Amino acid sequence: MYQQLILKSGRERSIYNRHPWLFSGAVKQLPKAGEGDIVQVCGNHGDVLAYGFYSSASQIVCRMFEFNTDAAFVADTAYWHHKIQRAFELRKKYILSTETNAYRLLHAEGDFLPGIICDVYNSIASVQILIKGTELIQNILLNAIRDIAGVKHIYLKTKKSSKVIEQVSATTDWINPPEEVKTIVKEYGLQFYVDVEKGQKTGFFIDQRENRKLLQPFCAGKKILNTFSYTGGFSVYALAGGASLVHSVDISKEACTLCDENIHLNFPGANKHQSFAADCFDFIKTADTDYDIMVLDPPAFAKNARAVDNAARGYKELNMAAIKKIKSGGLIFTFSCSQNIDRDLFRKIVFSAASDARRNVRILHQLTQPADHPVNIFHPEGEYLKGLLLQVE
Ligand code: SAH
Repeated sequence: MYQQLILKSGRERSIYNRHPWLFSGAVKQLPKAGEGDIVQVCGNHGDVLAYGFYSSASQIVCRMFEFNTDAAFVADTAYWHHKIQRAFELRKKYILSTETNAYRLLHAEGDFLPGIICDVYNSIASVQILIKGTELIQNILLNAIRDIAGVKHIYLKTKKSSKVIEQVSATTDWINPPEEVKTIVKEYGLQFYVDVEKGQKTGFFIDQRENRKLLQPFCAGKKILNTFSYTGGFSVYALAGGASLVHSVDISKEACTLCDENIHLNFPGANKHQSFAADCFDFIKTADTDYDIMVLDPPAFAKNARAVDNAARGYKELNMAAIKKIKSGGLIFTFSCSQNIDRDLFRKIVFSAASDARRNVRILHQLTQPADHPVNIFHPEGEYLKGLLLQVE
């Protein structure tokens, strides 16, 4: 039924490891298939090993979603429906509640479904189709998302790289728009405006939910600096935790306005919060030295492998400035969401920052992404968010 992609001899091992990406160097014979078609991945002797989406133009020539050796296997509508059902069940068990209705339903390889990301905000789903393969079965996937997650409106957001490298043709638009684009979501009972059209990523940084929650109980009576604050996620939690004063800093004026809106949504008339439209590097350097807690959650400084050196310098400068400035006994929640900077490297960078700041620093918690951004154990690249909770003497 499906065209065959034949591996070079000796390359079967990578399939046994279930890594979902197949690079072109491992291929002996390409399939006679169209871009995005589902293909059978076979060993040198024709034995079926896996099934995946074919990408002739990409270095990753096939993204595998099924390690099934049955030659008669068919990825039909029921198959995709079941995959999305499994993804939903995980979220239902661990994330969704009457208090939380913003979550990632599909995290691509993390849900054994490469090529699609789906974030749900209340009755709106913001979907990124990343490869041609998922674009070809887009209607099946979107119908399943609607049925399973009870979503009413779908916004398709197509990244430039998906268009250029993966030949996805979809544009960014609503499949069916809601009357009001801006929706209010709940996260641990706190409320946030989400605008999937204008917002960064798919509208909100859902991936920091558990880290924001972790911050909350440390905040009673404390003065907090939330840098790279965007829509003020950490700031809202800090106020919910009883902070005496919260400063949010973001270079974008619009982000500061969004942050203020979220503060007022949760704490009408609050006078314990102030937003600053400023560069965080400059702000920290000239900041007061009486912050009890700082949050450092910059955008990905290393967008690709070539940018790692410069990014490392950026993270070091930022962390060093914070470690130098924070009050004695204070806490720093520091993050990196750069996929190309792994956990070990990030820790080395923070080590180097602490060393140059000449202060004693302890790690209280190792931070990561939440359960609705699961990491497929065979695909370590899916682990992108890493962080440390530091205590500075
Ligand atoms: N912590 C946020 C997400 C941060 S996203 C949350 O939990 O939702 C990164 C933010 O950093 C963006 O809003 C961007 O405008 C801001 N930013 C980027 N470079 C900056 C700089 N040099 N100084 C201040 N803010 C910056």
